[in-house]
Amino acid sequence: MPELANRLPEILANMSADDVVQAIAISVDKPSATAVLALAEQYPQLFASVGVHPEDMDSEEMSVADLVAAAAHPKVVGIGETGLDYHWCSGDLRWQQNRFATHIQAANDSRLPLIVHTRDAAADTLSLLKAGQAHAGVIHCFTEDVAFAKAVLDLGFYVSFSGIVTFKNAQSIQAACQYVPLDRLLVETDAPYLAPVPKRGKINEPAFVHYTAEFIAQLRGESLSTLAEATCANTYRLFGKMTRPSTQG
Ligand SMILES: [Zn+2]
Repeated sequence: MPELANRLPEILANMSADDVVQAIAISVDKPSATAVLALAEQYPQLFASVGVHPEDMDSEEMSVADLVAAAAHPKVVGIGETGLDYHWCSGDLRWQQNRFATHIQAANDSRLPLIVHTRDAAADTLSLLKAGQAHAGVIHCFTEDVAFAKAVLDLGFYVSFSGIVTFKNAQSIQAACQYVPLDRLLVETDAPYLAPVPKRGKINEPAFVHYTAEFIAQLRGESLSTLAEATCANTYRLFGKMTRPSTQG
């Protein structure tokens, strides 16, 4: 994303100053898959995903073979963003469902986790994950309720919360955040979007994840260090190709 790419040295320095030791740069289409991989090759603290976001019908498709080939790179740790978005897209959405099914197959073939985007499409997201026998992944930027959280936890998935959970009107997301067991919980930024309170409305960046973590720790009645330890451990368990930096004690 240009909002981040144009300020990369500053963003990496802010990450390091706030003890955000690693980040995954997420692909949303074929050109961005190449771009985030170049970043991951250049910077040891960055990893990459490969996938085509569900939002744009005109994005060039990637086949299962394309995705699996890209996923073989040592710094590609997940398949996505993928999923369904019935909020921004309407009409006959079979193209979106086919694209999602392709990514599920690629994740199974490459044994990498799925990074799933779902908006106004909870039932179809669940049924496609089940039909494709998805083996592992995360519902990123969770915006659903406790019932959907339970359903994806039952599939073995992780649930990741972005800055949205800190917003005043996010009661049902906060309830889901209290419901998810500590060993299946993740935090994320979704940078450059969805900056958490007190940075709401600003350009989001990886360092800001600590605001979301602090809010969630308080919401769940856990210490920040307990939450940070658990979400890091969960990240390394889910994204098995990431390695902890050797400087961490
Ligand atoms: Zn998304």
